Amino acid sequence: MRQPFVAGNWKMNGSRETATELLEDVVQGLVSSHCEAAVCPPYVYLADGLRIAKGSELVLGAQNVSEEESGAFTGEVSASMLQDFDCRYVIVGHSERRGLFGESDETVARKFMAAARQGLRPILCVGETLEEREQDVTEQVIRRQLDAVLNAAGVHAFVEAVVAYEPVWAIGTGQTASPEQAQAVHAMIRARVAEADDTIADRLRIIYGGSVKAGNAAELFARPDIDGGLIGGASLDADSFLSICESA
Ligand code: PEP
Repeated sequence: MRQPFVAGNWKMNGSRETATELLEDVVQGLVSSHCEAAVCPPYVYLADGLRIAKGSELVLGAQNVSEEESGAFTGEVSASMLQDFDCRYVIVGHSERRGLFGESDETVARKFMAAARQGLRPILCVGETLEEREQDVTEQVIRRQLDAVLNAAGVHAFVEAVVAYEPVWAIGTGQTASPEQAQAVHAMIRARVAEADDTIADRLRIIYGGSVKAGNAAELFARPDIDGGLIGGASLDADSFLSICESA
């Protein structure tokens, strides 16, 4: 009953030429996929995305959004601006934003709400570091990250949202969480949301991210609470991305 969802996070990679080529290849390869597929290119390539993806199965998303609506915030991009480019999704709380740009749980919650207010669907990333996993505090960390948003935005905001479980130690490292490890955290996330609302939890898409490739996607996506993936490196190659979408 939950439609699988696969989103590509291109991060700060490529050029206009390679972005255009990748968009065209993905659009061409996506004919009648049962999975909802999105790509999140850098902001400056969203206009190309809009043009190339128009009328296709491919959906657009952004990698970040301002918590503010408009005004003197040099360098920021608002949710309504993303809507102007037909973005359906926006990633919030990616571990690179949390770790490299100092985004707190509260900032992430504000970004989530700014996106939701404009009708964008947030892809809320949560995940523990290796140190936290080794200290056996994964559950507390995920719960804290999730609760910051649940408490600020309310559980109803999760009707349109997606949660991405992305263990920090698995991102860009080639070290994927095992299907068992990922399933355990996904089930815990769903149970936490179910404490607030069973139906919303049941319908919530929880996707996994962290070194997903064409070769390991099917095994991960076969788990009952893993509804697709957030794909970094492998989304920069059209064949790999399309093969991951087919596995979902
Ligand atoms: C990511 O950055 O969201 C990600 C999952 O990256 P990778 O697939 O490269 O690990």
